[in-house]
Formats: sequence, C-alpha cells, structure tokens
Amino acid sequence: MKIEKSKRIKDLPPYLFARIDQIKSEQIAQGREVIDLTIGDPDLPTPEGIISQMKEAVGEAKNHRYPPYAGILPLREAVAEWYWKRFQVKLNPETEVLILIGSKEGIAHLPLAFIDEGDYGLVPDPGYPVYKTSILFAGGIPYLMPLRKENNFLPDLSQIPQDIAQKTKLMFLNYPNNPTSAVSSKEFFETAVNFCQENQILLCHDAAYSEIYFDGYKPMSFLQVEGAKEVGIEFHSFSKTFNMTGWRLGFAVGNAEIIAGLGKIKTNIDSGVFSAVQEAGIVALKSNLGVTETLRKIYQERRDLLCSGLKKIGLNFKPPLATFYVWAEVPPGFTSLEFTAHLLNQTGVLATPGNGFGSFGEGFVRFSLTEATEKIKKAVDRMSKVLF
Ligand code: PLP
Repeated sequence: MKIEKSKRIKDLPPYLFARIDQIKSEQIAQGREVIDLTIGDPDLPTPEGIISQMKEAVGEAKNHRYPPYAGILPLREAVAEWYWKRFQVKLNPETEVLILIGSKEGIAHLPLAFIDEGDYGLVPDPGYPVYKTSILFAGGIPYLMPLRKENNFLPDLSQIPQDIAQKTKLMFLNYPNNPTSAVSSKEFFETAVNFCQENQILLCHDAAYSEIYFDGYKPMSFLQVEGAKEVGIEFHSFSKTFNMTGWRLGFAVGNAEIIAGLGKIKTNIDSGVFSAVQEAGIVALKSNLGVTETLRKIYQERRDLLCSGLKKIGLNFKPPLATFYVWAEVPPGFTSLEFTAHLLNQTGVLATPGNGFGSFGEGFVRFSLTEATEKIKKAVDRMSKVLF
C-alpha cells in the first residue's frame, strides 16, 4: 500500500534540530570530536530537592491515576504564588493557570483553539520554529514579523499592513528572545498590548527564558503591563529555569477565556502531566530563588568565556543580557550555512545557522551555553587557532 502523508507534513522541512542531530552523528561516525553548541538543553542535572520529591511521589497510588486536565490545583496555586512573588502579577489558580506538557505542547496546540482556515497569525522571524508550524497546522497563514538588528530584534508593529492586522487572530512574541537573545522594554510590551487591543488580536507571549539573566538585568512579564490580561497569555517552562527539559512541564497563565480555549483543545488531545512530576514542580517553584541564582552564575561564566573567544575571532555580536544564547553575525563573505559548515570543519564546533530560525536569521549564527564549561573553553581554544 502507498502511504500518503498529509499535505500538512509533506510540505514541512525536517525539524531544525533533528537535521542538526543527523549532521552531528555523521561527524562522530567519521571519528571527530564535536563540541555541540546548538540546542538549548541544559547540561546540568535537575536540583536534588526536585528529584527527591519526584521519587517520593512516584510511590503514591493517588498519583497513578489520570491527573486533572488543567493540572493539580496545588501546582496551579504554586504558579500563582510564584507569579506574584516574581512579577507582582495576580492570577486566579482556578481559571488563569493551565499546566502544560512543556511549553512547546501548549504553543503547538494554542492556534487550534483560535485560528480558523485562512486566519493570520503573526510570527517573529527569526523565531522558535513551533510558532509558525502551529499556525500552519491549524490551517492559518503565518505572517512573518522580521526581527532586525537595527530595531534591537523587536518587531516593528507599525509595518504590519492594516488589512493583515484585521485578518489576524493571534500574535506570538518571545522575550527574552530565542534565538537573538534580545530583551524587551516595558515600552515595547505596552505598544504590543495596545496594538493587540486595537486590532482584536490575542497576544501570546513566550517567557521560557525569563529566569536566565545577567548583569543586573531582570526580565519582566508582559502581564505586568496594564491591560495585558485582557488580550493575552504568557507561556512558561520549568525546562530552562530548573534544568528540567526531559520532565516535560510548563504552564500558561493569563486571560481566562484564552486559557479555557487552550484547555478545551487539550482535553481532546492529551490527559495531562504525570501528577508526580507536577508535585516535583511545586518544590521547584517554591525553591526557585536559590536554584536559579546558582545557574545564572554558571551561564554567566560560560557567556563571558565564549564571548571573549568570539571577539578574538572577530565576530560581531552583543553579549546577551538574558537567555543562554549568543547571536553573532557571520563574517563577510559567508552565508549562515557556509559559516556553520566552515566552523565545524575547521574546529569541530557545531553552532546553529541563523536561517534555520527563519529567513531573517540569515547572516547570523547561534551559539548555546548549555555545554560543560570545560567544553566551551575547548571550543574557544580551537576557534582562536583558526582564521576566518
Ligand atoms: N519557547 C522557546 C522560545 C524555546 O526556546 C523552547 C525550547 O527550546 C520552548 C519554548 C519549549 O520549552 P519546553 O517545551 O521544554 O517547555
């Protein structure tokens, strides 16, 4: 029998990091030591207190049954408490907090709740690839908002044509930003909230990196802006803040109707996160400050190391104030892909070509700081011996 895939997946390029994994395997098969600075997947272990809570919770029979669809109430309460402490944003844990199987899952499902065939969704370019595909999967049309260096990698909302804005149902934003590591000002969030209010657009802000920050900078939640909760929701993740990428735990907070819409999709698709993982998540949120402070110091040391190396080889970039990524311009004469291939061949260092995050990422390359400090030292050492 001929297996015919849907147009939805036939037209889709392979997921960026799946392709990078393949390149890495080919290099390793040739006997090369690859220093992989591509994916943002923390190398450090999940803190011990979270693990021991998980071990205990696994043994409890009540946790072996289906969890409540919206997540266990004590975790939703812990999220609301954390939001209040961290951002001074008040949330109703019953209606304004939804537990997700990682924020990727929530982002991927959200457009199914609000996009009809032919509706537009605004997507940053370069950006986390899931924004665009989630809109396509829902039958919508992604409209790309370029993130340009000259605009500090913030989209210029005044450039969105009025007829597009009128046909748009939702907009994704992400600050601190992956892949550019840019941060948003309060003014930009205010502009975005006003724009969405005027055009009846749902604002979906992805704050997965809000806890990875340096040099005294501290990211805000877009929900701190007046009127934000009327137009939008914010996605968060345990993955980056607590080294928990493998656990699959995230949450969405904000506008109760949007939360309910996403919740309705999820009740038809999944049955939530293992309650033991959710109980461990409570411990994570309650212990947050100590854990992430230590993490930030480690990333800051790595950032300084890598940035000094990239400077030596003459790359142009701004050291990040947040996220664990360095977004650098490729040297003149190279495309993103050519530079990445050259770097890999010459040094064994694997970085992500910027155009993998969208066409406006062309001319850039992204380095991740989620590799051991010793490996980053080695990468810097190898790069400093090569001329570009
Ligand atoms: N949002 C952004 C911007 C990301 O970079 C990532 C992961 O890399 C995610 C969301 C997904 O995180 P998770 O599904 O692990 O919560």
